[in-house]
Amino acid sequence: MTDPFAIGDDIGPEKIVLIRRPAVGLQAVVVLDNIAAGPAIGGVRMAPDATLEECARLARAMTFKNAAAGIPHGGGKSVIMADPGMAAPDKERLVRAFARAIEELAAYIPGPDMGTNESCMAWVRDENGRAVGLPAVLGGIPLDEIGITGFGVAVAAEAAQEYCDLSLDGARVAIQGFGAVGKHAARHLVERGARLVAASDTGGTVLDQAGLPLDELIGLKAAGKSVTDLPGARVEPVGAAITAECDILVPAARPDAITDANVVQVKARLILEGANIPSSRAAEQALHDRGVLVVPDFIANAGGVICAAVEYQGGTEATAREIVATKIRGNTEEVLRRARDTGRLPRDAATDMARARLDRAMTYRRYR
Ligand code: NAD
Repeated sequence: MTDPFAIGDDIGPEKIVLIRRPAVGLQAVVVLDNIAAGPAIGGVRMAPDATLEECARLARAMTFKNAAAGIPHGGGKSVIMADPGMAAPDKERLVRAFARAIEELAAYIPGPDMGTNESCMAWVRDENGRAVGLPAVLGGIPLDEIGITGFGVAVAAEAAQEYCDLSLDGARVAIQGFGAVGKHAARHLVERGARLVAASDTGGTVLDQAGLPLDELIGLKAAGKSVTDLPGARVEPVGAAITAECDILVPAARPDAITDANVVQVKARLILEGANIPSSRAAEQALHDRGVLVVPDFIANAGGVICAAVEYQGGTEATAREIVATKIRGNTEEVLRRARDTGRLPRDAATDMARARLDRAMTYRRYR
């Protein structure tokens, strides 16, 4: 295993906790990357092959995402090295053991991530009193159900219009990954006058320049079907949403969707990164050089974590919506203005903005 002291720089990690409870088969890592702005919010990932390095990378990403979002929380992450598909009672035992093991780690507020969900967070809170992404009955705001991240993506699009000479009214939208983020981004963009012309999931892509029937597609997904089950639809392979004829592209599935190989075929003028790291650095540079505007992931998709922060303060869905709109609009405008004024990539402008906020927060720490 990597020497934990070899990981890090002037920002963090502040603390790395290795957890072993052989009696319950628990092996886990918590990385508190930086807590200058407040207790870290970051997901609990459960995967058999998760590593300390992965945890540290994800924790750093949360530090920047939370600093950019301007919420009073630092960045952290945890991984439980286990199979998330294990029998439910075993999973509950394991998650509860993890929650007890981090009871004293007050500067870490766990949330759901790959392999964990709102029930897991309910067990965590039952054990140690701290978690976000809770079931509604415990004061949670069901962020995927209400589609707060997709809402934020649409707000980012609104703010980006004047920086790419595009109007949402009549703009053609392609969504890669018609899931929690993608379908709600589509819904909110259509509400703002855009036309959905491409949508994909793991089954393939459906396309129609005249406009796809949004409600029907949402209904298909709710019934556990694929967008390609749309009757009479023109169906193409899974990668076709990325290269579809459109004005706005929302990659909302997995990392590395826009690559060196397919970037030349991207037709959109505005890309809103709903997924985390959907484009390689080289692809973002190539898009920038062509005048395609990219609103980076940790600005465009921050709705979820902002909502979690509101939930932690006991706020309501209505408050969350208001704060998400204000913050994402403000941040998108600031990042795109900085990028335009300096000619830099929006991602670099966003990183500078987050870093400046982090540095300011760090001046208030005793040991820095
Ligand atoms: P989800 O599982 O609800 O939806 C993902 C969708 O993508 C599914 O419909 C799936 O079929 C589709 N998909 C998977 N691989 C694909 C491919 N290669 N081509 C086309 N479609 C594909 O997940 P989600 O919650 O919507 O999250 C999507 C992404 O956004 C993830 O990267 C996630 O980390 C990120 N994200 C989510 C949130 C949130 O609030 N849910 C917040 C920030 C970032």
